[in-house]
Amino acid sequence: MSDQRLTCKACGSNSFAVGEIGHGYANIRPVNKRMTQGSPLLLTYCQDSGEIASMKVKEISKLKK
Ligand SMILES: [Zn+2]
Repeated sequence: MSDQRLTCKACGSNSFAVGEIGHGYANIRPVNKRMTQGSPLLLTYCQDSGEIASMKVKEISKLKK
């Protein structure tokens, strides 16, 4: 998963890191399922320019039922 080859579309760098946003009220939730706690999001970003290369739901199973 972590050795995927990415090239930044903004600056051409291939130096990426993964960050996490969410926790608690900032988690992503399906709009029609308010009872779920939701999941944080994982962002893969360029370490040189900050461009976001990928955004994904960390725990997709929590958004399914
Ligand atoms: Zn970049």
